[in-house]
Amino acid sequence: MRAEILTIGDELLIGQTVNTNAAWIGEHLTLSGVDVACAVTVGDDESAIRRALARAYDEAELVITTGGLGPTHDDITKVAVAAYFDKDLHFDAAILDEIEKRFAGRGIKMPSGNQGQAMVPEGFEILPNPNGTAPGLWYETEERMLAVLPGVPHEMQALMSDEVLPRLRRHGGLRVIGQRTLHTAGIGESNLQERIGDLSGLLNDHLRLAFLPGTGGVRLRLTALAKEQATAEASLDAFEQHLRSRIDRYVFGTNGETLESVVGRLLRERGLTLSVAESCTGGLVAHQLTNVSGSSAYLAGAIVAYSNQAKINLLE
Ligand code: ATP
Repeated sequence: MRAEILTIGDELLIGQTVNTNAAWIGEHLTLSGVDVACAVTVGDDESAIRRALARAYDEAELVITTGGLGPTHDDITKVAVAAYFDKDLHFDAAILDEIEKRFAGRGIKMPSGNQGQAMVPEGFEILPNPNGTAPGLWYETEERMLAVLPGVPHEMQALMSDEVLPRLRRHGGLRVIGQRTLHTAGIGESNLQERIGDLSGLLNDHLRLAFLPGTGGVRLRLTALAKEQATAEASLDAFEQHLRSRIDRYVFGTNGETLESVVGRLLRERGLTLSVAESCTGGLVAHQLTNVSGSSAYLAGAIVAYSNQAKINLLE
């Protein structure tokens, strides 16, 4: 299933709010086996929202929007959605009742601006939002699904977890995802590409490889999509073997392993201990090694000798 994310709000475009919604939704859809093809951000502008929605709805089977469901004049997502689908907005007394109760619970009279939050486009299902005043909306046809969610991150996340993801699972066709990360050191990205580039012939929509360069090494992230976990794991195993046959000596660990935890494990296995003498690194190597719990079993000690005289005095 191919998905697009449409995040709405001027504050996202001017850098006032970091777009964590797109990242969160992207991560959680991916972990559910949905293929996130595109994420677009538009401002609080009705025609821009309509155009973005038209494009997304045309290209993806699942579209998720966040933002612009609030009570203020710039919250116009619902109006744009209703206009795009050519639906009338009708008043839903049950939603208004819920909103009034929320305000009453805080001892406040509901401001009149919140009445607009009780308007629902004809034919849309309401996704109850127990954490806020703006309910989400769901619209489903045989080919397409649309979720219109509030912008407040914890409200959006709850609606995704409680309403949207269960609907996607019920809808079927979701694939399971397997992910594995190989950590490499001592080899750069282009050198890795030279050694394993030809394996790209084995990659496809169901098996992907990403190069993730970072400080001190390049991570290789393998992703497999399948109907069952065992099948995904089997393709990961097979592809990992291909990679290792080319670059095994540069791979120091997988998944959550770190260089220091692997060094620690190897020292333990071999019954060895280690002392560190550092200069320009100013104790960084010792710091990393001691970040591993239980490292006193193999790390005897560390000296930081910075000046030449200190090196002569302490290390000669
Ligand atoms: P509500 O009516 O519950 O306030 P809403 O749909 O109107 O929801 P917005 O008014 O667009 O949402 O945004 C509400 C809050 O959520 C703002 O503080 C905004 O900065 C934040 N927010 C909106 N979109 C995002 C996003 N994509 N990533 C992170 N935060 C966001």
